[in-house]
Amino acid sequence: MKSFNVVMFLNGCAAWVLFMLVQTPSIADEPVETQAIAVDVLLRNGMIMDGTGNPPVRGDIGIVDNRIVALGDFTAKVSAAIVLDCEGLIISPGFIDLHSHSDSSILNPLTRSNMNFLRQGCTTVVTGNCGGGPIEVKDYYDQIDQLGAGTNVMHLIPQGSVRRAVLGTSRRAPNEDEKKRMLDIVESGMSAGAWGMSTGLIYVPSSYADTDELVSLAEVVARHRGVYVSHMRGEGTVLLDSVDELLEIGQRAGLPVHASHFKASGEDAWGLVRAAAEKMTRARAAGQIVTADQYPYIASSTSLSATLVPTWAREGGKSAMVKRLQGVEHGPELRERIDRTLQKRDGGRAIRIARYPKRPEWVGRDLGSIASAEQKSPLDIAMTILTTGGASIVNFSMSEEDVRFVMQVPWVATASDGRATRPGTDKPHPRFYGTFPRKIGHYAVREKVISVEAAVYSATQLPAKILGLTDRGQLKVGAIADIVIWHRNEFVDRATFANPHQYATGLQHCLVNGTLAIRDGEATGALAGKSIRKK
Ligand SMILES: [Zn+2]
Repeated sequence: MKSFNVVMFLNGCAAWVLFMLVQTPSIADEPVETQAIAVDVLLRNGMIMDGTGNPPVRGDIGIVDNRIVALGDFTAKVSAAIVLDCEGLIISPGFIDLHSHSDSSILNPLTRSNMNFLRQGCTTVVTGNCGGGPIEVKDYYDQIDQLGAGTNVMHLIPQGSVRRAVLGTSRRAPNEDEKKRMLDIVESGMSAGAWGMSTGLIYVPSSYADTDELVSLAEVVARHRGVYVSHMRGEGTVLLDSVDELLEIGQRAGLPVHASHFKASGEDAWGLVRAAAEKMTRARAAGQIVTADQYPYIASSTSLSATLVPTWAREGGKSAMVKRLQGVEHGPELRERIDRTLQKRDGGRAIRIARYPKRPEWVGRDLGSIASAEQKSPLDIAMTILTTGGASIVNFSMSEEDVRFVMQVPWVATASDGRATRPGTDKPHPRFYGTFPRKIGHYAVREKVISVEAAVYSATQLPAKILGLTDRGQLKVGAIADIVIWHRNEFVDRATFANPHQYATGLQHCLVNGTLAIRDGEATGALAGKSIRKK
């Protein structure tokens, strides 16, 4: 235990509390009196896990305004009298979510607090993923700063939205003029502070770009020292080809490449992540910068159409897709293909409805059981949904063994693929509420698949490095005070597939830019997040 003397000075209306901390014998042999450092917030007596993967060290952290000014063992003069006793708690950097789809929900007054992420200890989210999101980067950042947000926001220029702005959803190569316009949008997005460019190569219209087109856009990103982030063309049996394309883009355009939500999807592809990871490790050994991220679950989540309908049949938007599904020219072929996919997904039982406004009573149930209850085939149910607006789904498509393998790969970061939301009647993927506490509490602390330090590194310094962010993701003097304080043995996810709108347990405090957003487990209401623009 650290011993300390408290001296109070009353100076006008400001109360000054002076903590004369005497250094603990465990840290220094000789107690040394040092000059007091004035701080606004003092985190006292915690176990500091700094985000680098190193084991925690006992100590204090002093914050002035939005920065860490002292760390370890020091004497603090606390002006604002915010002193948090962190005895028995881990102090770590706030988590950085590389893969968020909060592009619009972070601007929505109902969800901009991003409470489902703050409550996971997440202090920064990266938007613009999977090729979709705002392309007016400056306006987007300005809006976040004007309205306020619960977490910080970093943005990637989304290639699918760029293509849509120029070519709509037509499936053809751009002409010279169209190509130039796409390059200009990427250039201005990067100049406005985007951190890289994302693609979503199973989505329309992102997927209509061939490798050459992606390379020319990535060259612009490379000039701004950004990263290429990709939802790859296929995550099933074609995973290795997809990794080849990712690596090729990095080599030809000369920039770091990153695979989003790295996985092998579908039983016939299970195990392929190992060969894919080997390929990427070999590229790294040869000097290429290659990384990935993962959400720690065996189910994915996207739209039913992206799961069942090939991209060529989605050209031109929803009504064009419905025409093809029902038409004589492509209908039979498409229905046969959808049926085959459903068979592979356990007769539709692996696919659960997350959101379907037309039949809210189907939410939370799978296509197989809906079909038996309605005395129809899973194909009939899928066709009904696809032709009446579509649904978000949760797809149980991964193996637990693969999930555990991927999280042990040292260059794989943690990321949610979720978005800012609030409790409601939909059944979103539980990753919206549980990604970070699940990786740490379930997989590290309880299952011991990785060390707690490695789990924290994968959510802090590693994503910061991937983005080229230097003053966050590590607890050190001079860093921005995005900090989370949690109980090592109580911090764990509670959100389940059946009951996803559940906050994690064990989070004590969370600071965003030096401001307390969660204090003693309760939200303070602060909207302390800012846009973080690449300089
Ligand atoms: Zn994606």
